[in-house]
Amino acid sequence: AHVEPDTWTYSTCGFCGTGCGIEIGTKEGRPVAIRGTKGYPVNDGLLCAKGIYQWKMITAPDRGKHPMIRKGGTLVQASWDEALTAMTDKLKALLAEHGPESIACYNTGQLCMEEFYTLGKLMRAGFRTPNLDGNTRTCMASAVVGHTRSFGTDGPVGAYADIEAAEVILIAGSNMAECHPILFARVVKAVEKGARLICVDPRLTQVSRIATIALPIRPGTDVVLLNAMAHVIIREGLIDRAYIDAHTTGYAELEAHLRKYTPAYAAEICGVPAEDIEAAALLYGRAERSLSMWVMGINQSVNGTIANNCFHNLNLIQGKIGKPGCASFSITGQPAAMASREVGGSSSYPGYRAIGNAQHRAEVAALWGVDPAILPDKSPSITEIIDAILEGKIRALWVICTNPLISLPDQNRVRRALEKLELLVVQDAFATVDTAQYAHIYLPAALWAEKSGIMVNSERRLNLLKPAVAPPGEARTDFAIFLDVADRMGYGHLFPYRTTEECFEEIKRLTKGRPNDYSGATYARIEENRGLQWPIPDERSTGTPRLYADGRFNTADGKAVLWSVDPVELPEVPDGEYPFNLNSGRVQEHYHTGTKTRKVPELNHLVPTAYVELNPRDAEQLGVGYGDRVRIESRRGEIEARVVVTSQVAPGSCFVPMHFNEGPVNRLTVWAVDPFSKEPNYKQQAVRLRKA
Ligand code: SF4
Repeated sequence: AHVEPDTWTYSTCGFCGTGCGIEIGTKEGRPVAIRGTKGYPVNDGLLCAKGIYQWKMITAPDRGKHPMIRKGGTLVQASWDEALTAMTDKLKALLAEHGPESIACYNTGQLCMEEFYTLGKLMRAGFRTPNLDGNTRTCMASAVVGHTRSFGTDGPVGAYADIEAAEVILIAGSNMAECHPILFARVVKAVEKGARLICVDPRLTQVSRIATIALPIRPGTDVVLLNAMAHVIIREGLIDRAYIDAHTTGYAELEAHLRKYTPAYAAEICGVPAEDIEAAALLYGRAERSLSMWVMGINQSVNGTIANNCFHNLNLIQGKIGKPGCASFSITGQPAAMASREVGGSSSYPGYRAIGNAQHRAEVAALWGVDPAILPDKSPSITEIIDAILEGKIRALWVICTNPLISLPDQNRVRRALEKLELLVVQDAFATVDTAQYAHIYLPAALWAEKSGIMVNSERRLNLLKPAVAPPGEARTDFAIFLDVADRMGYGHLFPYRTTEECFEEIKRLTKGRPNDYSGATYARIEENRGLQWPIPDERSTGTPRLYADGRFNTADGKAVLWSVDPVELPEVPDGEYPFNLNSGRVQEHYHTGTKTRKVPELNHLVPTAYVELNPRDAEQLGVGYGDRVRIESRRGEIEARVVVTSQVAPGSCFVPMHFNEGPVNRLTVWAVDPFSKEPNYKQQAVRLRKA
């Protein structure tokens, strides 16, 4: 029954990287509703199904309410003192015996900025271990490295307002209708007002259904397609020569490199007609204002980084960066993945400082008051961390708000690694999270609605979280847990702050003069302005909608780099033994491994279990129909799932959502990563199917 809230609390959606403004409705301290914030520049009151129902997970029965320690094979209730003493005693022993590199931490894109910052400082200046990574590696790493290679530092260049200002929108490798529904609503509005849409996706999605041109390319052929589009744009003289000369390097090499990428050449590889490639390039190139957006279909590939560079090439050669309606726009998957990237929560130091840059480490050390020699100069990826566990080099892993047993590729390999650990600490809002099967210690954490802090969305907007309810039982915020661990380890002197707002003041000092300068932001100003897009250099600034509007990039010479690239071979392609290409991804109703959304009856009712999409032709050949169970096998393992017969997938391809632990698609996925970003290749692997 509907319960009318007695209080509404300002906050931000805790799911995707769109960053919708929400208000959390409570009655007598209990969550009872969520509504979109009217007038919020991101969503103006709109929410998707996940956003509307997310309050229901807050009171889910399996919320962790007490710490637990494994005794006799079972996790049993313990006090915070017992759990943290057990954890820190073991960590101290490992440090003494095996050194900092025996300890690792794997976190998320769903904490708030102050938590990422505190964790990064704790791991690097406290434990002095290089082994800190986040699940952001599995979604945005290729975008990070792509930005850095093209523009000098990370950071998406555009603003959502560019969607409505564009004449042509190119969406590639993104089922935005399902994965970023509120952004897609803005695209639909733009299309209704006359914008043209180009959709590049091997699946026929709701995005391709409203596209002027749909390019259902063969899986993994994006780089060839983007190179061919740039070829046509150059051939037709649709470039901005003055911009290229003033603001980029590498054009002469690129022009020569792209000669072979004719539409006819690309058509052979991409499996779409040459005329369609030509038409898409001309549509994009002839528009004054065109915008490209992409997500995991591009990033989660061995060619992820260079595909990002191809998008930047395409826009740079036309001078379509930093202008209204023009952007080379990588969209983020998680609500605070950007914050992690910006303040050192995973593979960088705060203020977009590079791990491997001695000058950057010296700056951070000076601001932290530590010896620069103690700061790690490398940052292994999670797949490297898993391999190091299997080799016996890493002995303890602290997993925070993520579920690697289900979300990392090649589940059987990850399982072997988790089993081998001497200490696995799982810190999560839900005690039933799959990875906790192997935990020695479980720590109950607060959810987003129970804490204060900042998240940053895909358009660099700092959004504020305010606590609407108290965490259940003895659960604590991740921020409080990090400070407690720091105190117990003897690192308390590194953390002169005790509240997230005080922490943000310290973060601001680390970003001053850096690309993501937050100097002019305060919690009050963020709320007053309904979010602020960085850089925000002083208190008069209301933020910066677009980066590089002045044509000056963050490279040594101030110029963007045009990259001449060819794709590398995919790690696995269908063959006689495994004849199908397997793709994986999200559906609108669920998120990641379902640890949150599967707690919400309404969402679970809409999409209750694992399934595999099969083309009608393949279903007929396999002798299966809608709802039948099939066994899906790869060289790494097998799962079962129900069949959904749909022409959304091409013959010879299948698609399995990533959310379901009863049909974990990552038991099938391949252990291969992009050579630059180390992001796993989730989108292309070979499988075979048979009726179960
Ligand atoms: Fe939340 Fe994303 Fe839905 Fe907006 S689009 S309500 S941020 S899940």
